[in-house]
Amino acid sequence: MTKYVFITGGVVSSLGKGIISASLGRLLRARGFSVVNQKFDPYINVDPGMMSPFQHGETFITDDGTETDLDLGHYERFTDTSLSGHSSHTSGKIYQHVIDKERRGDYLGGTVQVIPHITNEIKARIVAATKQFCPDFQLIEIGGTVGDIEGLPYIEAIRQFKTEAGIGNAVSVHCTLLPYLPTSGELKTKPSQHSVNVLRSYGIQPEVLVCRTQRAIPKNEKEKLALFCSVPKEAVIECRDMKSIYEVPLALESQNFAAVVLDMLRVEDRKPDLKVWEGIVERIKNPKKTVNVAIAGEYIKLSDAYLSVVEALKHAGFENEAQIDIRWINSSGCPDQKSCKEQLKDVDAIVVPGGFGVRDIEGKLNVIRYARENNVPFLGISLGMQCAVVEYARNVALLKDANSTEFNQSAAYPVIDLMSEQKVKSYGDTMRRGAYTCCLKKDTKAAKAYGGENALTASAAGAEISERHSHRYEVNTEFIKQLEDAGLVFSGMSPDGMLAEMLELPELDWFVACQFHPEFKSRPDKPHPLFKGLIDAACAKLR
Ligand code: GLN
Repeated sequence: MTKYVFITGGVVSSLGKGIISASLGRLLRARGFSVVNQKFDPYINVDPGMMSPFQHGETFITDDGTETDLDLGHYERFTDTSLSGHSSHTSGKIYQHVIDKERRGDYLGGTVQVIPHITNEIKARIVAATKQFCPDFQLIEIGGTVGDIEGLPYIEAIRQFKTEAGIGNAVSVHCTLLPYLPTSGELKTKPSQHSVNVLRSYGIQPEVLVCRTQRAIPKNEKEKLALFCSVPKEAVIECRDMKSIYEVPLALESQNFAAVVLDMLRVEDRKPDLKVWEGIVERIKNPKKTVNVAIAGEYIKLSDAYLSVVEALKHAGFENEAQIDIRWINSSGCPDQKSCKEQLKDVDAIVVPGGFGVRDIEGKLNVIRYARENNVPFLGISLGMQCAVVEYARNVALLKDANSTEFNQSAAYPVIDLMSEQKVKSYGDTMRRGAYTCCLKKDTKAAKAYGGENALTASAAGAEISERHSHRYEVNTEFIKQLEDAGLVFSGMSPDGMLAEMLELPELDWFVACQFHPEFKSRPDKPHPLFKGLIDAACAKLR
């Protein structure tokens, strides 16, 4: 029978509830339990796909092509599971569904209300995931802060769900902040007490408190929290600021977080196997070298916009005992090769990540040219691959003013274009999103990087892999032959041979680009082969 853990936040937003939920997932998985994480976001947007990365950070894509909140990335990376649309819900999605039902007449003329119709829909989505996956534990995180008006239907749904599930089948973990006042030299518990009071006023008594804090919580403060918030002393869990998010599961384990939750859910504890995770943290803490990686993207003011790219780079660093230092490059500052040299002369690797729109494209082309001409290890992702094609077309295949029709509709050589069946669909429909199979060409860097273990199948024709896409434009097949004749190798193609999914330059140490987003499938203990290839190549040059 599935047991439920609800995770809410209080006092302030940005507490790191996502990391705490993901960490609990890891700790339960380390005990051999199956886990499904879910996130409910109170905003009205239907999904984060249309939200500005400046405001909301990256949009994480699942195998089934759902555009989700970046916390799903943490869940996947920490629990090493692949999630689906079952794990990502917003008020927009829930209301839309209920309103669609109302329009169809499903409510038989009844008045449709937040309680019970919206709350029932929330509960139905929790139960749907249980039915689909039958996990031992379902960890359900509610976005936002308790007390927010827009979060109320979720809190009410949790109250009902807990009552219906019965004692010992669902617990509520409340995450709060203990601010430190330097003038009095104290950690203050009052905001946490107030936040628990707010939760209680909605009918939920949290069973566990996870307290974010800069410093160790003194015993007497823990006791005070326990007393005022009506939780057992051992259920006041300290969660200190850590250098790396990957330390959090171990820190929480040392506070017996999972054991406390299991006890409250009346499940016998098991000995966790955290050996691999401890090894990773060991390597994070003791790097032997530093690799400087330039990321030339458009949302460089908010690194969360490329969260999974940064994490994937770090994972490849762990494997190499290397610390990854990111240098954010504004490609508008790269109008020519001279400026590229100034900005990039001491970087060890270059990434051009995904993106949309024409802004700073010429600068990105210059950065890619610099990588190619100076043999700096390079990884191009989605837009980064499209730019690599344009750059090669212009400067090597000598297709003057080659471009993507995303940037210039009347390009003389539209080397990146919408494929014909997409042109007829409406704008919003045309994205290729979610997992697709890609066939790797034998004896390429791509094929070697993926090796046997990362491939779906390995046949005489070459290995097949599955990767997640999120884009509209493709390499224009009309130009593939010309580009190949000029030396570009398309090392991965769609199974029907129609879509170019990967490219590389064999004579360079690592010049690889892909139409898909490899960053979504990297794990701290299983770095993605393409990021590993990039950082391996960078490390080899350091020596
Ligand atoms: N803008 C490009 C496209 O739509 C690339 C998208 C991306 O980088 N994910 O095809």
